[in-house]
Amino acid sequence: MKTIQTPRFQILIAEYSGMCFGVRQAIEASESLLARKPATILGELAHNPVVQSRLSKQGAREGQLEGTSAPTPDVIITAHGASNLDRTRWREQGYRVLDTTCPLVHVAHRKLERLVNEGYLAVIIGKKGHVEVRGLVGDFPDATVILSREEIAKIPHVKKIGIISQTTQPIDRVRALVNEIRRQRPKSEVVHSDTVCQPTKDRQKALDDLCQASELVLAIGGRNSNNTAQLARTARQHGCKAHHIEGPDDIREEWLHEVVSIGLTAGTSTLEESLQAVALKLENMAALIPVL
Ligand code: SF4
Repeated sequence: MKTIQTPRFQILIAEYSGMCFGVRQAIEASESLLARKPATILGELAHNPVVQSRLSKQGAREGQLEGTSAPTPDVIITAHGASNLDRTRWREQGYRVLDTTCPLVHVAHRKLERLVNEGYLAVIIGKKGHVEVRGLVGDFPDATVILSREEIAKIPHVKKIGIISQTTQPIDRVRALVNEIRRQRPKSEVVHSDTVCQPTKDRQKALDDLCQASELVLAIGGRNSNNTAQLARTARQHGCKAHHIEGPDDIREEWLHEVVSIGLTAGTSTLEESLQAVALKLENMAALIPVL
């Protein structure tokens, strides 16, 4: 973890944080297409206003994955993927499709396909309505989506249950739910195929370390970034004070008065420059706050 010492407090930056390779690759591929022609992004490429405004200045138009038409002949599928049904439908309608689905999302689809082919009833641990979960359910409409213990009751009583999860779910939550399903369904064969991606695991572990060393954690990312909100929630569960901020302008001076260590982390859609801007603002603010 990187440390910046100021006269008033330490700023600690999580070892792993910020934009993951999947989102970065999707943005790079989209920008390379947009440099040649306008294109419609089917959903949000990154839950980040800085990235969205940059893409829209480059000619990106907005569209819906489940929609039926787009304002440009070129469309872009985002990093968290789509069902094969939607992918094929856009191609069959004559649109040119740039598919920026992250390779680790493809892995999740293949793992679920294998379980279903082996006769397991599909269970997805994830957020209903999230684009990645919509893609998985589009391919496997019989899948049951759960996110809490209470929802386990929704899983049909069958002999074989095969579980995967959304790639960005906290691994501890996934393991706890898998164990609970096994406990509640002792007569079923319950198989879990781990699909939480390595960048998510790295960021979660780095957040644990950051929380141990910090009194206050600032999670940086777009206001509509679930992933950033989850980082702030997890930090609170670890006993830290934590705030979800979009950038340096959201920092409130009163948060800094009683603390000597401030941890910074960022969501998987957050640009490195946003994290650096927050660190710089904190350094500048440190000079103005009285020493404890
Ligand atoms: S969070 Fe994981 S699965 Fe999603 S785009 Fe990033 S690396 Fe890929």
